[in-house]
Amino acid sequence: TRLAAATAPITEGALADGTTVPLMANVGSAKDAPGAVALGAEGVGLFRTEFLFLGATSAPTVEEQTKAYTDVLQAFPGKKVVVRVLDAGADKPLSFLNDAHEENPALGLRGIRALRASEQILRDQLTALAAAQAATEAELYVMAPMIADREETEYFVSLGKELGLERVGAMAEVPSIAVLADQVLEVADFVSIGTNDLTQYTMAADRQLGSVSAMQDPWHPAVLRLVKMLGDAGSSAGKPVGVCGEAAADPGLAVVLVGLGVTSLSMSASAIADVRAELLTVTLDEAKARAARALAATSAAAARQAATV
Ligand code: PEP
Ligand code: MG
Repeated sequence: TRLAAATAPITEGALADGTTVPLMANVGSAKDAPGAVALGAEGVGLFRTEFLFLGATSAPTVEEQTKAYTDVLQAFPGKKVVVRVLDAGADKPLSFLNDAHEENPALGLRGIRALRASEQILRDQLTALAAAQAATEAELYVMAPMIADREETEYFVSLGKELGLERVGAMAEVPSIAVLADQVLEVADFVSIGTNDLTQYTMAADRQLGSVSAMQDPWHPAVLRLVKMLGDAGSSAGKPVGVCGEAAADPGLAVVLVGLGVTSLSMSASAIADVRAELLTVTLDEAKARAARALAATSAAAARQAATV
């Protein structure tokens, strides 16, 4: 992986007017790193750490986690790597974190809520991440899933800093965090929007249920308006606001997201080339104009049509 990182050409994502938009990869383990680098990822915008432990029956040790995180960070020397702490629950249950039966697991003890209820597991993970950072040259960012408000952000940021991390942030996937974006960005170093869950919770449409899949559309103006609240708050605070949900992989929507104030995009590495090509066709002013048309639309389909001319 070191060799791949050293030799693959990395072209910066940018708009037609030169505005840069880093294009990063979503990964689940070090196995995904060489492919991401080969496909032009400028770093990792979402490392889903729970994928490493989906089958585990007991919590992973600090040592085994340090190795797993070091392997990923080593593939991106000098690059940004955004690691998400364990997102347990709902569609990604971990038996050592989610033991109670819940009628509505998507609305239950998941993400940061589950970690907070088992704080030693969170402490071990943050400790392992700090050790991996110390052993490598990547620029580590650490974020927590399902953060709802400033109090949860403060909890996570202060624990991360106590355990030696420099850049600690929040995922925005619960609508409340968008409504409270100004408060959250006072304490978070950065925010990354998870549009898969943000859409699910905004539209009250289970992301795994085929019968409501039409409602699970990140082009919906309700979702886009929440993204704009986060983008505006990020630019006021001078802090990065990325997107790491599937929406970032849709080239037309990627342009709109940038027009809403999103500063980086992370996606499956296979989507990077098409998104990069589309961004190069618009200036920031054009992206903002498309975003404005999408925000004014009254449905996801109408937003898609209004923004794709
Ligand atoms: C999201 O919710 O958009 C996200 C990136 O996280 P996941 O898909 O892993 O829930
Ligand atoms: Mg999510």
